[in-house]
Amino acid sequence: MPVDRQLLQGSFTKQNAPGWPCPVCNSGYLRLLEESVVAKATAESITTQDHPAWDPDWTILRFVAVAVCDNVNCKEAASIAGAGSVQVVNRSYDYDNFYTPEYFNPSPSLIAVPDRCSDELKAELKLAFATAWGDPLSASAHIRASVERLLDQLRIIKTPRNRMVRGSGLVFIKGSRLWVKKAQKQLSFYWQ
Ligand SMILES: [Zn+2]
Repeated sequence: MPVDRQLLQGSFTKQNAPGWPCPVCNSGYLRLLEESVVAKATAESITTQDHPAWDPDWTILRFVAVAVCDNVNCKEAASIAGAGSVQVVNRSYDYDNFYTPEYFNPSPSLIAVPDRCSDELKAELKLAFATAWGDPLSASAHIRASVERLLDQLRIIKTPRNRMVRGSGLVFIKGSRLWVKKAQKQLSFYWQ
């Protein structure tokens, strides 16, 4: 399953938030609790309000919110934090706050994670998903760590020959052809 970029890039309002797939029960959707949204203008954008040409859409917001799974047997709660802006709605003169998540925990799964993955691998991927919304560098570090956990699970040992390959984080690109073939065969078992 490829990364759902639409899910990552979308912004929402209090009245128009998507249902994010719940990563805990995998059947319900995380629904925004409107009353949980708290947003404040940044100090920098407040200072611009003295400008004679100031317009509401100059405002930059920081927000926090909670979303809860609508599956009554789950009810998982997720915390969301990020940035926001004030924009005209539907070319009218009305403004609304639009929020863009930069952190989401627990995050919807951005790729499918097979049940056979180890708990350590799943934990790293969860951290990657949570930070991918606004901190791709941090997410990539967790992805690299998750590859290490996968190699551990596949019992690919740290020999002098592949230690450098493992350390590079480019295990599937720089490995020997034979080794890559072996890893791909094992991976296909986990990622089928
Ligand atoms: Zn759920």
